[in-house]
Amino acid sequence: MQNLDVTIVGAGSAGLTLALLLAKQGLSVAIIEKGPAPSSEQQPDYQRVSALNPATMRMFSTLGVWPDIAAHAAAYQHMHVWEADSFGQIAFTAEPGQSADLGWICDNDAIRTQLYLQVVKQPTIQCYFDSTITQLAQTARDVLVQLNSGAILLSQLLVGADGIHSFVRQQQQLPLTHWDYDQQAVVAVIACKEPHQATARQAFLATGPLALLPLPDPHYCSIVWSADTAHAQHLMALDDQAFNHALTAASQSVLGPLSLHSTRQVFPLTMRYASEWVRGRVVLVADAAHSFHPLAGQGMNLGLMDAAALAQILAEQMAAGKPIYEARALLAYQRWRKAEAQTMIATMEAFKRGFGNDIPALKLLRGAGLVLANKLPGVKQKLMAAALGNSGDLPEIAKY
Ligand SMILES: Cc1cc2nc3c(=O)[nH]c(=O)nc-3n(C[C@H](O)[C@H](O)[C@H](O)COP(=O)(O)OP(=O)(O)OC[C@H]3O[C@@H](n4cnc5c(N)ncnc54)[C@H](O)[C@@H]3O)c2cc1C
Repeated sequence: MQNLDVTIVGAGSAGLTLALLLAKQGLSVAIIEKGPAPSSEQQPDYQRVSALNPATMRMFSTLGVWPDIAAHAAAYQHMHVWEADSFGQIAFTAEPGQSADLGWICDNDAIRTQLYLQVVKQPTIQCYFDSTITQLAQTARDVLVQLNSGAILLSQLLVGADGIHSFVRQQQQLPLTHWDYDQQAVVAVIACKEPHQATARQAFLATGPLALLPLPDPHYCSIVWSADTAHAQHLMALDDQAFNHALTAASQSVLGPLSLHSTRQVFPLTMRYASEWVRGRVVLVADAAHSFHPLAGQGMNLGLMDAAALAQILAEQMAAGKPIYEARALLAYQRWRKAEAQTMIATMEAFKRGFGNDIPALKLLRGAGLVLANKLPGVKQKLMAAALGNSGDLPEIAKY
């Protein structure tokens, strides 16, 4: 039987980051993962990538993992967003005095691997990979977890960082609101004839947004092509040549002819939002608590800020000599992060609905709106701050 401060379920980006943050605060942590440990042998294939923003970069720098993540990432200095078949467009470049990089396209497995390599160096973290929870029960004094190996872990607090289908959320019967976006995201690595010039691009098409995300080689990008479900299925069914034609046309040849460099993967897109994130000594973070449309590339960033916020609140509890499981503190965490998640979900919904139709009058309005936003410095600065992760109520570790 092991006695710990915190047990974390799920060793994705959020769970591993939280484990590191808590260990650095002197807490003893167990992390339980149903899958295998990340392998440092594996080279990044960029099949699944995330656009990490400067707020996340600052936190990863403090944790000492950023140089190794950045070594496999592509920094971008420009963003270009436009509406297909319209005059509407907006472009972002770092302002003088700011860091030149607006963000970094990182391989998801490389992020996990680098976090894991730091986690195993921490003497106060115990890792349980390839492990299934056979029992989870709260008592007045602690949370008991039994694993398929027979191991029993007793902790002050348990964190569900176990992704969109969170076992912890379901087991604790935390209520969930969800709706289908009726879209699926087709993801692949593609080769482009013209160099991407360190620019992240997004075209809003009537069927959904197409993102062209720069990779370390200037002639390769990762695409996230979100499309209405029937259209996404059609795109998946096309042979490679027909897909390349469709993709080049959808991108309006902004990078010349495009061609597949990997297999295609498809992800159904659903909004999920737990209306309660805390039950007694159990608390949710990241995708276990919220997931939403990837059109602004913010899901992982938001989840990592949940981890930072929870760690900060637990540190404040410890500094005040109070228990880490105190309801008042956990509810303060919930209030803080729910407000940030709600803003993000509402913004994604407005984008999805706003651009998701082809009515000529609305298209004209959208075009005018984008042109105006591109010209008005105040509006543009606000959009830029949101894209850089610098808006909202940031945890201390991510502040600039
Ligand atoms: C197409 C697409 C593109 C995206 N692009 C971006 C982007 O550009 N930028 C961005 O910020 N975000 C992006 N996101 C969102 C981002 O991928 C997620 O928000 C992020 O990966 C969630 O991390 P997590 O650690 O919460 O969950 P996960 O990565 O899902 O990790 C959960 C972990 O828990 C484990 N687990 C599950 N159940 C159990 C259990 N019962 N016991 C033990 N372990 C368990 C899983 O095996 C997994 O390892 C994108 C999402 C999609 C679908």
